[in-house]
Amino acid sequence: MDANKLKVELIPIFEDNYVFVLVDPESREALVVDPGESSATKTYLHENDLKLKGILLTHHHNDHIGGAQNLKNDFRAPVWAPLKNKSQIPFADTYVQDGDVLEFDDVRFEVMALPGHTLGHVAFFNPLKRWIFSGDVLFGLGCGRLFEGTPEQGYESLQKLKTLPAQTLVYCAHEYTETNLQFCKMLSMFDDSPIMGGDEDLELYENELTSKRELNIPSVPLKLFIELKVNPFLLAKNAQQFAYLRDLRNRN
Ligand SMILES: [Zn+2]
Repeated sequence: MDANKLKVELIPIFEDNYVFVLVDPESREALVVDPGESSATKTYLHENDLKLKGILLTHHHNDHIGGAQNLKNDFRAPVWAPLKNKSQIPFADTYVQDGDVLEFDDVRFEVMALPGHTLGHVAFFNPLKRWIFSGDVLFGLGCGRLFEGTPEQGYESLQKLKTLPAQTLVYCAHEYTETNLQFCKMLSMFDDSPIMGGDEDLELYENELTSKRELNIPSVPLKLFIELKVNPFLLAKNAQQFAYLRDLRNRN
């Protein structure tokens, strides 16, 4: 696989999930990230005559792993999964943790542990393309619910994402941006809110989002440098503020 030639295909599944297929159009090799179900991905791989070289899983929720075993069997492709999810994902071939590096020829991923949404959650960062496949940690104008981790862990995981290059593209696994925009607008009504970014930035964000979604274009990948300006969870100044926001979002 040639990292320079790589492109990412988004396959919508269920109500609002995306499966990511990374394709080298020349070698016709592919990697799949978080296949919540297999049929749509299989069709895509067959129609484009692609060889599946590997399946990467960010966390154990079924809408991310549901199709992995089936794809593994059909395409004889190995599976990488978080070490902390060994019991929930027993069919993986390799278990990864923070700092591990995955290499598919010259396509390289650095594994980042990002606990919060789940305790074992990892993301896969490709430093050449500046792509991160981040599952349910960060969303457009939002972040993942804390099902297993503490607010402190969730907050620290977002701080880790902030250390990535600003030009990073964030491939998050759900199309939640429009819903989160409504939450941000509600937040910005509190005019003493220290959490929101500038109204102007949010307006620009909304304009771009609306024109994309009207044409049914995904809001993913997110541009990290833009999220850094407007995403209230990235703007939270400490774990306490993050916890307050997360709680407010759960109720709205
Ligand atoms: Zn999840």
